[in-house]
Amino acid sequence: MKRSTIARVTPVTADKYLFVEIETADGRIGVGESGAWAHIEATRTVIEKFAEYLVGRDAEEIEKHWQILCRFGSYAGSLVMGALSAVDVALWDLKGQRLAEPIYALLGGPYRQKMRVYGHARGATRKQLVERSTLLKAAGFNAVGHVNPFLDEDVDKPVSGTFASRLRFAVETLEEVRSAIGPDTDLCIEIHRRLRPAEAIALGDSISHIMPLFYEDPIRPDSASAMCMVQNQLKIPIATGERLFTLQQFHQLLESGGARYLRPCLSLCGGFTGARKVAALAEVYDVDLIPHNTYSPIATVASMHLAASIPNLLILEYPTARYTDDIASTGLVAQELAVRSPVQEGGYVTVEDRPGLGTSLVKGVAEAFPYRPIPIYTRLNIDGSPTEH
Ligand SMILES: [Mg+2]
Repeated sequence: MKRSTIARVTPVTADKYLFVEIETADGRIGVGESGAWAHIEATRTVIEKFAEYLVGRDAEEIEKHWQILCRFGSYAGSLVMGALSAVDVALWDLKGQRLAEPIYALLGGPYRQKMRVYGHARGATRKQLVERSTLLKAAGFNAVGHVNPFLDEDVDKPVSGTFASRLRFAVETLEEVRSAIGPDTDLCIEIHRRLRPAEAIALGDSISHIMPLFYEDPIRPDSASAMCMVQNQLKIPIATGERLFTLQQFHQLLESGGARYLRPCLSLCGGFTGARKVAALAEVYDVDLIPHNTYSPIATVASMHLAASIPNLLILEYPTARYTDDIASTGLVAQELAVRSPVQEGGYVTVEDRPGLGTSLVKGVAEAFPYRPIPIYTRLNIDGSPTEH
């Protein structure tokens, strides 16, 4: 099959996700997703602007298009990078379809035959968190993740309590989860940036006996030096990076020593073109990746292609609402957006040997799953001041 030009670039909103479908003049359709989930409307506009440049161009000059769209106007922030990531993944999908090869093969894989995944255990109460952690283990996972020791309470509930009481509660919660899943199942902690550096050190110091696989985003990720200061005082490894979107930001974080594991979001850091470079950069520092996942099947499959082709992978994030009956965490609806969604077996997923991504959006996805705009919100402290959601 000959190379083709881009005929159409169409942003697609479905449920709470933003995808792009890129169609070539010879009728192939590639798909990608933006990870800038809080600003879907603005990112959609960026994709429409990108379409003005892309239509009529060779669909396979991926790096060149990436650089032009990224360098244009010198204003590339996270929304532009979210749009660019979606376009990049769709172009790799098209290239794989034309060459009749899966993307991981074009990236030098397969490096591994299957990828280890961790499931999500969310809980508004400690009892629910423990139950869902147990359900994941029963479903075959040997790593239980997204475990928030402060619980996944409604955002309307303000943060209250003393330092000592919150710390004690968090430690006891993690001890209960550890006790429920046993000593040999890995436990991945997710703090959602909720702590001050001093609090993050105090909590991290108090839970090394729980042996977490990683301690995700204990503080806000904006300062690499603050993250480094926290990491340097802890024995447990910090995993961070899901909000970063330039190679330079990742370099700063790695160089400062702020992350033992890196969490690039393929849908935000520039698609395969960006994520491959981040992976190579991390390799220099002997840091393994735990790719961030927005939970849609498109993002999940894209992460799997990356994971199947790089040497430095620790584990993949995997949507598991179907195992924990957790509608609120999306997964259930998300899996129906694509014609094929990966299913874990024994805590592992296998990337299929199909051209390109190997999956696509179901027909009429925007109508079948109407867009659900996300209102602006954040959690408040008991005194009314804003904190991390
Ligand atoms: Mg996270």
